[in-house]
Amino acid sequence: MNIQDLIRPTIKALKPYSSARDEFQGNSDAMVFLDANENPYENGVNRYPDPQQRTVKSLLSEIKNVPIKNILLGNGSDEVLDLIFRAFCEPNQDNIITLPPTYGMYSVLANINAVDIKSVQLDENFQPKVDEILNIADSNSKLLFICSPNNPTGNSFASAAISKLVKEFKGIVVIDEAYIDFSNEESWASKLAEFPNLIVTQTLSKAYGMAGIRLGICFASEEIISVLNRIKPPYNVNELTQQKGIEQLKNKALTAQQISEILEERNVLIDQLKTVSYVSKIYPSDANFVLVKVDDATKRYNQLIEKGIVIRNRTTQPGCENTLRLTVGRPEENKILIDTLKSI
Ligand SMILES: *Cc1c(COP(=O)(O)O)cnc(C)c1O
Repeated sequence: MNIQDLIRPTIKALKPYSSARDEFQGNSDAMVFLDANENPYENGVNRYPDPQQRTVKSLLSEIKNVPIKNILLGNGSDEVLDLIFRAFCEPNQDNIITLPPTYGMYSVLANINAVDIKSVQLDENFQPKVDEILNIADSNSKLLFICSPNNPTGNSFASAAISKLVKEFKGIVVIDEAYIDFSNEESWASKLAEFPNLIVTQTLSKAYGMAGIRLGICFASEEIISVLNRIKPPYNVNELTQQKGIEQLKNKALTAQQISEILEERNVLIDQLKTVSYVSKIYPSDANFVLVKVDDATKRYNQLIEKGIVIRNRTTQPGCENTLRLTVGRPEENKILIDTLKSI
């Protein structure tokens, strides 16, 4: 597969903006920087941030076992996803394939970028219908979005199914692994060398506890990373985000501890949900949330709101009639949720 043939002609021809910090990078305190029209008085953020976020990437490279040259960072994975659209999808011509029920951002971004959406609903076990997906694809199908573990269903997709899609889909396959840190499945980022059309996205927003700093991760071939680098805003990850991200990534024990507590609490929550009379199904979860089927999702949702508990009503999503999505909270929060569910 030739990735160059998938890139929009406009993007291929683009001469990227070269920022001051792109042209010269030096860490030495002895250097005098008079190149970027910054205010020279130090306050921690008076300088433009590193456009290539080298320290954050080197930490991520070590933690995730992916070479730095295969990493691009964004203002949340939402920015990364948007860059992918702008690199590969010609407005009013190309299309993407999504597998509902899934993360809503793929179709929002498609609509913003004037890109058609083809969708193939997951089967009754919330697994992808591989042959249908490959059949619906046409020569303008540039992106296939696979969210695994999937939001809002919580399950991981069978690796044989993902493998077949990555091998046989004739465009870019984006595997959104926002919840991978809660799962025992291996990240597809380890397979980048095998599949030139693979993009894996992750985020610091969930397991790493940093939704507020907006730091999203893209793993892909050097060729794809270089295309995305051409179109990303030069300073897309700000200095405060880089500093806070570095601090958190260095604290590996804290993240590991929180993940293990959340997983333990997820099991407690699932056990308790089994005793709620109107909960008819608890879907298997590889993430930090649980999808449950109830008698009347909208009624239960409203009852919880009245008690000051906010969850997600997923009843309008395809295949998710009367389901609620519950995020695993701290033990005391989960107890309040369970007590309230039992009292209504
Ligand atoms: C939460 C979530 C994200 C995270 O997006 P950020 O912009 O990095 O916060 C990405 N994909 C899915 C499926 C999610 O649920």
